[in-house]
Amino acid sequence: MKNPTITRRDFIKFLGAAGLASLGFPLLDAVDADHSQGGRSLPNVLILVFDALSAADMSLYGYSRPTTPNFENFAQRSTVFHRHYSAGSFTTPGTASLLTGVLPWAHRAINLQGTTSNRYQAENLFSFLPQEYYDFAYTHNSLAQVLLDQFKPSIETLYEISHLALFSNVWAEKPPLSEFRVPFEAELLSTQNFNSINSSLLLSFLDEVQRRANSQGLLERYRKEFPRGLPNCHLAGRDNTLCFTLEAAIDWITNQFDQASKPFLGYVHLFPPHAPYNPRREFINAFNDQPASVTKPEHHFNQGESPKQLTRMRRKYDEYIAYVDAEFGRLIDLLEREKALESTLLIVTSDHGEIFERGVSGHNTEILYQPLIHIPLLISTPRQSTRIDVHSPTSAIDVVPTILGFLNSSRETQLEGQPLSLDAKAPAFERDLFVVEAKSSPKNGKLNKATFAIISKNYKLIYYRGYAGFDGIYELYDLDLDPQELENLYSPANSVAQELKEKLEKRIAPYI
Ligand SMILES: [Zn+2]
Repeated sequence: MKNPTITRRDFIKFLGAAGLASLGFPLLDAVDADHSQGGRSLPNVLILVFDALSAADMSLYGYSRPTTPNFENFAQRSTVFHRHYSAGSFTTPGTASLLTGVLPWAHRAINLQGTTSNRYQAENLFSFLPQEYYDFAYTHNSLAQVLLDQFKPSIETLYEISHLALFSNVWAEKPPLSEFRVPFEAELLSTQNFNSINSSLLLSFLDEVQRRANSQGLLERYRKEFPRGLPNCHLAGRDNTLCFTLEAAIDWITNQFDQASKPFLGYVHLFPPHAPYNPRREFINAFNDQPASVTKPEHHFNQGESPKQLTRMRRKYDEYIAYVDAEFGRLIDLLEREKALESTLLIVTSDHGEIFERGVSGHNTEILYQPLIHIPLLISTPRQSTRIDVHSPTSAIDVVPTILGFLNSSRETQLEGQPLSLDAKAPAFERDLFVVEAKSSPKNGKLNKATFAIISKNYKLIYYRGYAGFDGIYELYDLDLDPQELENLYSPANSVAQELKEKLEKRIAPYI
């Protein structure tokens, strides 16, 4: 009979998968105080992506609801980028640009479940970093997983989604896939990994946990903590049954500082605050205010959501952000306690935003208003103790070159992004940024049905191309005077509109 051996890693993994570490059970000494490896000079690099986190709903960026006090605390030791933009409006293009340093029209991961063109399999963040780095990656999001799978040859340890799931996944692809119908079938993870536990106090404890999980007691426990349900978890249906907790992921990240080889590059792409907005109990009804909301006209691409529905959904989204913020704060506390941030470049961002206006909710849409593309970016360098605010425009494609620049690591490859200075004395700069939404265009063909945005100084031009009944439409907004994008300034006679139109036409010409 096989001798059951359970490592500390297995145990922590199980606690994480069961979500018990944060729900009253004591977490094992999460990070050993001493993990030095002598002579190490390269910092760890950790990229933390919170999916669908819009800057518009973060108090860090001026939102009226106090949704992100812990991000604000973290900002005190970070460079905060105030005009940071995703390169697309949903996971696939946003994540691919973040990881390749080029825009969607170049990497071509533009469709739902899309992949990049072949060259980026070998030209991505994981392949660019110096040899000394141990790479690992994890995501809850199946669309991001598709991309990470593609980059797998460059990633030393790519964890499966099931690694942190309460229920393991059985790939059962049923196209068309949307981000809201993740194709997983439920199956208890614990029954697979812990079927040989039989001795010692520790193992008895695990055995008890296992039996409770198997008897659905675990789910009862979660129902008390998460009255609206667990993130992305619908046990009644056959679709969309990836069940996990953010708590488990936060504990797991903490443990990587103990367990991963150093220096490491970690890419962790967490699903919250992506819908469904299912926070822990204490965050439900956290915001019972009546915020002054601006009524915006319904858009051509409206989805029929009434202003009342949008207001209600946004409140739930904000509650969920507050929950994410609390768990982010817990992570930073744990890492600070273990002095893990003294040797780590920590990058916190999102892949795109979320919108609740003009009859549209979520991010599965053709529009490109600010809530969908204005996202957070905070970068904390090892031992950083002061806050730096950057108001120059920046893009997701800058993250890869910024990491390479910080590590003084050059690559002979063409990146569209540019390295950002993390020095308080760096001069401000202006440049043109581009955002591309082209999920309805072919991967390898012309971008004949797409929405483009160019952001230039305080102006933003949006161009809708090839849509039936909405082709060749332009909108121009002055983001300084009209941050809510209410007054469309576009006209053929407007000189700013014509200047931006020419710039955009020049950039997209090779792709249309
Ligand atoms: Zn996403």
